[in-house]
Amino acid sequence: MENKAYRGHVLALPFPIQGHINPLLQFSKRLVSKGLKATLATTLFIHNTMQPQSSSSLQFDTISDGYDEGGFAQAESIHASLNRMETIGSKTLADLILKNKNTANPIDCIIYDPFLPWALEVAKKFGIFGAAFFTQTCAVNFIYYHVHHGLLKLPITSTPISIPGLPVLELADMPSFISVPGSYPAYFEMVLNQFSGTDKADAVLVNTFYELEPEAVEAMSKVYRLLPIGPTIPSFYLDKRLENDNDYGLNLFVSDSSVCNNWLNTKPEGSVIYASFGSMASLSNKQMEELAFALKGSKFHFLWVVKASEEAKLPEKFVEEIGNKGLVVQWCSQLEVLSNKAIGCFLTHCGWNSTLEALSLGVPMVGVPQWTDQTTNAKYVQDVWKVGVRAKVCENGIVERKEIEFCIKEVMEGERGKDFLENAKKWRDLAIKAGSKGGSSDKNIDEFVSRFINS
Ligand code: UDP
Repeated sequence: MENKAYRGHVLALPFPIQGHINPLLQFSKRLVSKGLKATLATTLFIHNTMQPQSSSSLQFDTISDGYDEGGFAQAESIHASLNRMETIGSKTLADLILKNKNTANPIDCIIYDPFLPWALEVAKKFGIFGAAFFTQTCAVNFIYYHVHHGLLKLPITSTPISIPGLPVLELADMPSFISVPGSYPAYFEMVLNQFSGTDKADAVLVNTFYELEPEAVEAMSKVYRLLPIGPTIPSFYLDKRLENDNDYGLNLFVSDSSVCNNWLNTKPEGSVIYASFGSMASLSNKQMEELAFALKGSKFHFLWVVKASEEAKLPEKFVEEIGNKGLVVQWCSQLEVLSNKAIGCFLTHCGWNSTLEALSLGVPMVGVPQWTDQTTNAKYVQDVWKVGVRAKVCENGIVERKEIEFCIKEVMEGERGKDFLENAKKWRDLAIKAGSKGGSSDKNIDEFVSRFINS
């Protein structure tokens, strides 16, 4: 391995949660296909949980966030965990760079998640090329940019809200940290701090593709030289140019794909609702109950991912009572599920990876956003990409079963359903094109590589 002539050695540093690891991991694989050596560094805790195996296409290594034994769960508060990650993360990142210094392939580029802006300072200290990798949409990033620079004053007192390159937005379309003032102050500070040093980064990459939000990309390109490089999903589902790249390969939770595949393969085309709220969301008991009754009451089959930590919130005897109408699993290979012909719609929290995966695989959506950027993504799903609907929330903050059932019907059948499916297929084709040779994202990846190599 070490004797191979690489064009450079990239260290990718994601924020250590599933939705941020997946895109950087996938982007690293792309860079390997362009002749670079790539190492993905996760925290020791995540590394021990996922046990990733280094291969010819990707190496794994670790830093510490100070919570090696129990991860975030060990932290006394979000704020404390972020501070500790900065102090211990900076030091152990420097150690990792030093460990590689006298090898045949010293690290000469760090691609960091801007949730960890201190990584750029470490890169600069060592004179290493530093690239920010934004994992959310350009639209969401540009909203935070406006707040960070005081161009959008909070709290918002008048609506609709106008931001260059974005559709007119209502308060409910804004990321939740803005629409619900005072919620999660430590995370809000973190998303705004993404812009504290980005002007010093040598490149700014975004996990989106130009065709998906051209106006936002162009507006934001006036302040940074942006390189949209997405969608970062395994090549098997897009351009098929990377060999054996059919899954992310790193899962915080365990799944058995044969259970889902065997069940889905017995269902007719377009007949199943796939419901999942990602790796982080924790729904209220009431919301779980409304979802459960909506799925059980609808006339369609459903596959529902209910994480182990959420299972106790299911109504009593739910699993027994649904029989073969539904399948409840604790985790699944979402890409495999979304690409199964039986799936007719994705009932989703609109996390950015899930949304981008559905767009890239041509699956219409019912959006039930919970927090952070999901609300803005849901706005785009309904009004910009026109690939589904966003469920209405009641005054008590709950999406009721009738509303969920109504939205499911809208997407699964009728004229609107047909339009959503047609649009979803259009986005799928554009996603494939963007990542294929000479496509907008492929060109941007090449530009990134040549900027780094020639730096
Ligand atoms: N995912 C998965 N299996 C599941 C649920 C989710 O593989 O059962 C993956 C999904 O494909 C996506 C990621 O987990 O890549 C979730 O990221 P997202 O941004 O959608 O949501 P988050 O977990 O960050 O809220």
